[in-house]
Amino acid sequence: MIQRVDDEAGAGAEPAAMEAEGGSRRARCPTCGARRRGDAVCHRCRTDLGLLIAIEAQADRLLQDVLRAHSHGRFRTAMARARALLRLEPSPGAWRLLAASALRAGDFATAVRAARRAGLKASAAPGAD
Ligand SMILES: [Zn+2]
Repeated sequence: MIQRVDDEAGAGAEPAAMEAEGGSRRARCPTCGARRRGDAVCHRCRTDLGLLIAIEAQADRLLQDVLRAHSHGRFRTAMARARALLRLEPSPGAWRLLAASALRAGDFATAVRAARRAGLKASAAPGAD
């Protein structure tokens, strides 16, 4: 049995967890490591962050698409959007979303692979210990 997949798939905590994961990566300039201030150019090294900001916005839209599709029971669509999200911004949370969507879609092989990539651990069957 896979832990935590179902608990987090439809729970309100998932978007917050995803934002926290993306937020920590997004907090600093990828060139010099300075804390980002929301500008399209890094205040320290003058790196143009415009394309990065556009990609992050697209990832945010994909995250919302995944959650919307999942909440409406369109699990194959949710899987496709989760895969697109993973291409843009891989994170354990995005892998968890793919795992949850695949599980609900009945694609158990993908669910297991995605859960492993998310770092979720298999647990023993109830009563096994
Ligand atoms: Zn910088």
